[in-house]
Amino acid sequence: KKVIVIGAGILGASTAYHLAKYGADVMVIDRKDKGQATAAAAGIVCPWVSQRRNKAWYHLVKCGAKYYPELIEKLKEDGETETGYRRVGAISLNRDTEKLEKMAERAIKRREEAPEIGEVKILPPEETQKLFPPIAAGYGSVYVSGGARVDGRALCNALMKGAIKNGATLIKDDAVSLITNNKKILGVKIQEQELTADLVIVTGGAWSKQLLDSLGICFKVTPQKAQIVHLEINDADTGKWPVIMPPNNQYILSFEAGRIVVGATHEDEAGFDHRVTAGGVHAILEKALEIAPGLAESTFVETRVGFRPFTPGFLPIIGALPEYSGLFLANGLGASGLTSGPFLGLQLANLALDMDLEIDLDQYPVAGAIAE
Ligand code: FAD
Repeated sequence: KKVIVIGAGILGASTAYHLAKYGADVMVIDRKDKGQATAAAAGIVCPWVSQRRNKAWYHLVKCGAKYYPELIEKLKEDGETETGYRRVGAISLNRDTEKLEKMAERAIKRREEAPEIGEVKILPPEETQKLFPPIAAGYGSVYVSGGARVDGRALCNALMKGAIKNGATLIKDDAVSLITNNKKILGVKIQEQELTADLVIVTGGAWSKQLLDSLGICFKVTPQKAQIVHLEINDADTGKWPVIMPPNNQYILSFEAGRIVVGATHEDEAGFDHRVTAGGVHAILEKALEIAPGLAESTFVETRVGFRPFTPGFLPIIGALPEYSGLFLANGLGASGLTSGPFLGLQLANLALDMDLEIDLDQYPVAGAIAE
């Protein structure tokens, strides 16, 4: 089957990788937009302590977190080992012991269905500080050993390289359009060249609206701008530090070689404005230094900007484009797409090749993201 994938963030890269592994003839077209969510993402893979109750959403992130070790293994077999993925554990902070107990209870309950959560334990402030030295005094935590972090850029790159090794081709292009005839998608046009395919898959994140506009379809995806700061500290073995989830809806992640990532903003009204703003950086640093004053002497390295793609109800969509044939899409990965993206890409590949799915498509209807 010949498949064209438009958009190579984590979702498109995973879709292409799995399709190529299945032996499909895959071409990927990506524009590398400024603000690609995957390239800016923090990289927390720890969905089990979230308070969000939406079952359809939880199924995706739970399956996503579970799928990671298997995917990392597959990539290794393809010679791709640079993914930045590591199960370093995650700690959720609070000064209130009762809240910590509730959080631990929730994680232990969820472990019945998700043994990959691993060990769950409440740590007193001294123990918490041992795991993450820059932290302020007085924070206890819930430690979850299955929590992991991943480098979105590195993983996306590894997936694309893996896809190419399995026969896929990648084209960087910024002027792709769809070729249609009688509500059937026949392929794409890039420059003056027409490329036909059995199937086109749109995984363009926050930018997918423009592409579907050309069909007269109003696709309801909105970008939520996020700014995120990268710091660096010396002389510490940061590669093994756990993911820190403070009570203030911010987070702190540590990578190899002293890299510390703090963030992020949630800006609903900024559109595709990809500037780093004084207010954004100020808000991030103020919150981060309040939680971890030990980071005050770190080096300021950079601020990244990304656009989280949100579809209505903050719930991803996946499936065929209604009333058309030849086009599948998935979108709306929102704030948890590094967690769900690799798994959802696998589902999309399975869908494209008429294979079994581990999700119920009725829970993620594409029609729900299309304006009447
Ligand atoms: P994107 O990564 O945005 O990729 C879309 C791609 O499609 C882009 O490369 C774009 O150029 C291309 N494209 C679009 N239209 C076209 C076209 N017409 N032609 C060619 N190419 C096109 N998730 C977690 O699980 N954990 C986290 O800790 C986390 N932290 C985050 C922190 C920040 C700051 C941000 C911004 C996001 C975070 N996320 C996190 C969410 C996650 O990054 C996103 O949900 C996910 O990356 C979305 O992936 P995507 O492939 O759908 O979109």
